[in-house]
Amino acid sequence: AYVITEPCIDVQDQACVEVCPVDCIHFDEGEDRMLYINPDECIDCGACEPACPVTAIFAEDDVPADRAVYKEINVLWYSDKAAARAKVNELKPPA
Ligand code: SF4
Repeated sequence: AYVITEPCIDVQDQACVEVCPVDCIHFDEGEDRMLYINPDECIDCGACEPACPVTAIFAEDDVPADRAVYKEINVLWYSDKAAARAKVNELKPPA
């Protein structure tokens, strides 16, 4: 699956949502600081990657090593949103 990483935090452009053919990119407006890809629904089409204006999206195998934790965070949000939000705040404290 594709993975959304740190540059999305506090940007949430949502261009990726527009291009995703299976609607597998989600977030709760006002609750989340970034968007998350559902790994169970992503078909690895790659459309979201070039659509992102801040280069936040990578194929799972291409996620930069220093952002590897975002692979877990995208997965986590779909089972425990509060835990995913806590991780994001820990990695990048709100301004
Ligand atoms: Fe959606 Fe394709 Fe991106 Fe997966 S790779 S999140 S299916 S646009």
